[in-house]
Amino acid sequence: MKANDQQLQVPGLRMTKQRKEVYRALMENADHPTASELYETMQKSNDPMSLATVYNCLEALVEHDAIKQVNVDRNPTRYCQNAAQHGHFHDQNTGTIHDINFKPGTQLTDILDLPEGTEITDFEITIKGRLP
Ligand SMILES: [Zn+2]
Repeated sequence: MKANDQQLQVPGLRMTKQRKEVYRALMENADHPTASELYETMQKSNDPMSLATVYNCLEALVEHDAIKQVNVDRNPTRYCQNAAQHGHFHDQNTGTIHDINFKPGTQLTDILDLPEGTEITDFEITIKGRLP
């Protein structure tokens, strides 16, 4: 998916050229890349940046809820550009991470016995398994 400039805006975050490039690279890679993989992508661009800069950009984007971190075991952190509420499925055969959505009309509160009045502000669901 090619990201246009409009999609590369993040409320409350000043989008420097580098942040925009990192965000764009992530938008165009739905495979939940690691920072190193994004760094490699950046090396092929006209404006290569250091790994530290890639990390800084990712950190700013995570802080502003534009992207999510995906941590599985002790593997390097992966990054997800899908801003919709979703969980992750870690296929243990291939090591790939897939986005998993809620079934239409279902919410987290339908399946979890949360204390009355709880407001969920954030969640992280990672399911491990094997695809057939
Ligand atoms: Zn995801």
